[in-house]
Amino acid sequence: MDFRASSVRSILDLPRRELTERFAEWDLSPVHVARLWSYLYWECVESWGEMEELPAKVLRRVEAEFHLPVPPVAREAHSADGFTRKFLLEQGDGRRIEAVLMRFTGRATACVSSQAGCAMGCTFCATGQMGFQRHLGPGEIVAQALHIQRILRREPAPRGEPVRLRNLVLMGMGEPLHNYDSVMTAVDILRDQSGLALGAARITLSTVGVVPGILRLAEEARPVHLAVSLHGATQADRAALVPAARKWPLDELMDACRVYTTKLSRKIFFEWTLIEGVNDSEDHAHAVGRLIRGMPAQVNLIPLNPTTGYDGAPSRREAARRFQDILAEGYGLPSTVRQRRGIDIAAGCGQLAAPEA
Ligand code: SAH
Ligand code: SF4
Repeated sequence: MDFRASSVRSILDLPRRELTERFAEWDLSPVHVARLWSYLYWECVESWGEMEELPAKVLRRVEAEFHLPVPPVAREAHSADGFTRKFLLEQGDGRRIEAVLMRFTGRATACVSSQAGCAMGCTFCATGQMGFQRHLGPGEIVAQALHIQRILRREPAPRGEPVRLRNLVLMGMGEPLHNYDSVMTAVDILRDQSGLALGAARITLSTVGVVPGILRLAEEARPVHLAVSLHGATQADRAALVPAARKWPLDELMDACRVYTTKLSRKIFFEWTLIEGVNDSEDHAHAVGRLIRGMPAQVNLIPLNPTTGYDGAPSRREAARRFQDILAEGYGLPSTVRQRRGIDIAAGCGQLAAPEA
């Protein structure tokens, strides 16, 4: 079916609860919802025609009410080491977004986009450099995970890695807390036990620091890990790299993070893109330590990945190590240096942008 031509709703937009309500309105048994759901999210079928066990009247109804989008892959790139794959997926309106599959030994992670482009304008990020196009609907977020699950199932890994998607990071294009409702609906669908069944501990959402969104996550006790992009430990340093800091200042952001960790008794992650000569000195490390000391937190250091619109270099290995030592020894803060993945195909953090057709 050509879903571009269709104005009906995507079935991937609906959590199971909502689908069940619709079935009740149509006088159809909930048993059929269960079967439909497993076709969609367990067998990951790509067309209505594959749902052979659904009674004809059920099939007729869902076909009339919904479309089942399978976004075409406009372009695909494989990293030279074979572990990372990037997909440029075309949406119903022709917009293009990127999703990334990362295989690690023993696990697979999907990095998905929440928006086409991004409104936040971080200077060193390729998505920010392209500007905002539009929000993605829940189904458009879910479809990225489904695409990656299909790939994992179809193509057994060379070294026997698992065929099931285990981890999902909302760290692709866009700011997930700027598109809160769609992202949370997508998370509900992805976590559903009879479908993709992603564990709560296996989903991480990264935010530029949208304070109302963080407070809402805490209030609603959403089952995702939270990573907050810090990059600067004073208001002035941070605002120079992250324009959104002017709207949500550092002290308000830290207060919101404390509400989150206290209310949910949960650890929080802070991301820090390490840029040589900009935010990677020993003084910077101490400033980070002082800022988050005492919180249940972990710092993820990300050596800068190249983008065309920002002229900076990643920190050297020794600077990253020194940064980690200061955080650990001075402030008891654990940290990791994010593995550089897929840089040769521009699939690393902050490198996602969608070239025009
Ligand atoms: N919009 C969200 C998630 C997307 S990016 C956010 O900003 O948090 C995931 C992480 O990569 C963020 O911490 C982001 O600041 C960082 N990042 C962006 N551009 C980068 C680059 N060129 N090199 C390294 N990290 C980058
Ligand atoms: Fe948007 Fe995140 Fe990129 Fe900033 S780093 S421009 S918030 S995607």
